[in-house]
Amino acid sequence: MDKLASRDSLTGLLKHSLANSEVAKEHARCKRLGEQSVVAMLDLDHFKQVNDRHGHRIGDLVIKALANLLRHHFRQTDVIGRYGGEEFIVALPNCSIEDARQSMQEVCRQFSKITFRASENPFTVTLSVGIAPLCGFENAYDAIEAADRALYVRKSGGRNGVTADGDFADVQKGVEPE
Ligand code: GH3
Ligand code: MG
Ligand code: MG
Repeated sequence: MDKLASRDSLTGLLKHSLANSEVAKEHARCKRLGEQSVVAMLDLDHFKQVNDRHGHRIGDLVIKALANLLRHHFRQTDVIGRYGGEEFIVALPNCSIEDARQSMQEVCRQFSKITFRASENPFTVTLSVGIAPLCGFENAYDAIEAADRALYVRKSGGRNGVTADGDFADVQKGVEPE
């Protein structure tokens, strides 16, 4: 496939459709080998406010900063895509849920430490992450949906951090995840 056509122009990450097909490939691979892999959905917190307060151009810089952090943090063999405007997808081959949780928590921590100074008022931004075991599902689509549901739980439970598929049972029991 044409490399330019498959890359998002703002971030250089995989576009939605190619990211989906790479995650599906990883799903098939880990099923075949009986390995653990993880899919993660990431979304910037209160990003509309960032645009409203500092302008769309500075919002774009924040998106690029997260893309760069993801590129540096993860391996060449990991799948990293820009899924939508301020939403990203990551697939981690050969990785347990607990390792993925720690790795994503570190991404959240590092990102929250970046001070953006491009506007008059310096500011910081956080992100929320939902993770799910890629091969715990019949197909990649179902795993992505599970990661998305976990992301939604994180959004309603305080943002700035990671929730895994399966943490919900704890939430229902009234126990704080993590
Ligand atoms: P939440 O914490 O619940 O995710 O809130 P949010 O404000 O991040 O979510 P919401 O979906 O309300 O707003 C997302 C915003 O992201 C709105 C949209 O204008 C902005 N956005 C989407 N794509 C881009 C982009 O490419 N550049 C910039 N600067 N903003 C974008
Ligand atoms: Mg958001
Ligand atoms: Mg969003």
